[in-house]
Order: sequence, then C-alpha cells, then structure tokens
Amino acid sequence: MRRVVGALLLCLFWGSAAWGLDVVRDGKPVARIVVPDEADSYTTQAAGWIRDYVKKATGAELAVVPEGQDTGQGPRLALGATKAARQARVRADDLAWDGCRLVVKGDTLFLVGRDEDGVGKADYKAPKGTCRAATAFLEEFCGVRWLAPTPLGEVVPQRRDISVPDDLNRVIVPAFGYANGRLIYGVRTPASYANNFREALRLYTAGGHTWPVFVPLERYYEEHPEYFALINGQRSNSRMNHLCTTNPDVKRLLLEGLRGKFDEGYDWAQLAQSDGYRRCECPNCEAMDNYREWGRGDAFLFKTLAENPCERVLKLHRDIAEQCRRSHPNKKVHLLSYGPTTMPSRAFDKFPDNVVVELCNTDPRVL
Ligand SMILES: [Zn+2]
Repeated sequence: MRRVVGALLLCLFWGSAAWGLDVVRDGKPVARIVVPDEADSYTTQAAGWIRDYVKKATGAELAVVPEGQDTGQGPRLALGATKAARQARVRADDLAWDGCRLVVKGDTLFLVGRDEDGVGKADYKAPKGTCRAATAFLEEFCGVRWLAPTPLGEVVPQRRDISVPDDLNRVIVPAFGYANGRLIYGVRTPASYANNFREALRLYTAGGHTWPVFVPLERYYEEHPEYFALINGQRSNSRMNHLCTTNPDVKRLLLEGLRGKFDEGYDWAQLAQSDGYRRCECPNCEAMDNYREWGRGDAFLFKTLAENPCERVLKLHRDIAEQCRRSHPNKKVHLLSYGPTTMPSRAFDKFPDNVVVELCNTDPRVL
C-alpha cells in the first residue's frame, strides 16, 4: 500500500513538473508575451504589468511582441483580443462585467477579458477584463498581492520559476460590477483591478443627484420659474435645485436627459432628486402624498416616512423608468434609496425590471 501511495505521489510530482507551461525557469525567461497588433492602451498597459512584476519576482524580463511580428517558438502568453485567441475560440464577451478567462491550449496561455470602450474622456469606466486577466495571472501564478493602497501593501515573493498547469481553464467573473466614489487604489493600476476598485460598466453618475444636471436652475429659472419648487409662496431659486415634480415639462426634461445619457453610450444612468431635497408646496404636488417635512431618527424613518412615503418622487421615477424601458430596453435606470426615497411606495409594489436601486442607508431594516 505504501508503495502504491509513493508511486501515486511520484506521478503527481512528475505530473506537475513535466506538464506545466513554463513562463520562467531558473530565473531565465522562457515564454514571451504576445499582444494584438492593434492593441489598445489597456492591453499594452496590462502587458507591461506582467513584464514588470515577473521581472520583480524572478529577475527575468519577458519580451512583449505584437502578434504580427512574433516569430518565436515555444511557450507564449497571448494577452487580450489576439487572432490566436479568436482561432482557439477563447473569448470573454459572454461574461458579465470585466470577467476573464485564463486558458492553456498547447503551448499558449490565453489571458482574455471582456473589454469595452468607455464614454468620452472617462474611457477607463468600462469593462477592462484583459487588465483583470493580467492581474489574476500575477496573483495566482506569481504570488503577487496588493493588500493595501501603499507601496508597503504590495507583496512580490521572490522565485526562480513560474509555470502554469497545462490544463488550466479558469473563468473569473467578479461579483460586483463597480465600485466608485472612493477609488483608493487609483485608476488604471493593477491593484485597482485586483481589488475590484474599478467601474466595469458604463455608469453615468453625478454623485447620485442628477435632477440638477437634467433641469438646471441656471438654464431654466429665468424663463420657467414654474419648473422649480414652490416653497413658502416663492418659486425656489436655491442652488440646491429643487423641482416641481408634477410639472409635465419637468418630467419630460428628466426623461430626455436620461435618454440622452443612454444615447451617449452609458449602460446605466442615475436618476435621483437633488441633495437636501425640499418638497414643492404647489397644490398638484401636495395632492400626491402626505410627505411633509423631513425629520430625524428612527421614529421618523420607520414610522412617519414609512407610513407617508414621498410618492411624488417615487411615482415620477417609476414612470420615467417605465418609459426608458420601452425606448432603451437594454439599459438600466439607477435610482437612489436616499433621504425622502429611503422608504418604498405604498401605492405600487415594484419598479420596472430596468431599475437598479442604490441603497444609501445600510440599516438592515431599510431592506
Ligand atoms: Zn409642484
């Protein structure tokens, strides 16, 4: 029995040693990194990360070669949307967010991620799965760690060899589509992808509060004061941009603004009330609900607001989302559960299925 176990261990040992795809052996480069001839800046950057961190770990510098100029033999890392990946049918466009695949076929390790362009100057706010594939390779097979957003938080173990199992077929799909607001690892850094501090979808955000973007005071107040909330008998010209939400033109402008963002290329767009929300006291708005002044504490939130939700805003957002669902069926309307919209409507049970709600109050009772 002992002999059988010994033979088995020997097989396992020889199996892993003989049947891996070598990237670095005994401190010398074995593989090269092949990138598409028309590599975008993200793929080029990711190739640089692999080259630099492999060198930090082993001292060996892997060559980075455009695919059309690659005349090398032996092991290679094919990064991003190479022709070789297409021919080998290794793809990632079927994965969510910035998902990626790490696959070995023959003497090639394919590192392929779902890549999309961002909107305008915020090009990094989109799925960049090839960057994720590169950092996943560095974490898993080189032991690199980005544990904290400081130079001391980076760990690069020293080693002589790097190899990858030749039956590797790994799919990585992150649980979360994005993190924004506090990008503590910076943007376009390996640590940001490794720690999921990145936006892997085209999200239009104005810190949540988009009413002032779609119906700005500076543009409309002079000609249309009636678009703005009636407060103490005056149409408000507060910089906080409080709106009269039963005005049909206000509803139209919010809808047009949101649709405009989808037409620009965003997949999700935020629709939410101005920060420091003040209600409009015009008869039409007041007739929609019993929401009155904002209060503090549990009694207000879980009794007063729960029993008297801000229907005027909740219904407005539901109606706009419904119209977006018809015009842009593949897009998402991103609402805030925040301030007056913390508590759900008592007049309707659910938002349409194109709505995503950001929970700003993390008290479990709000769920
Ligand atoms: Zn009003």
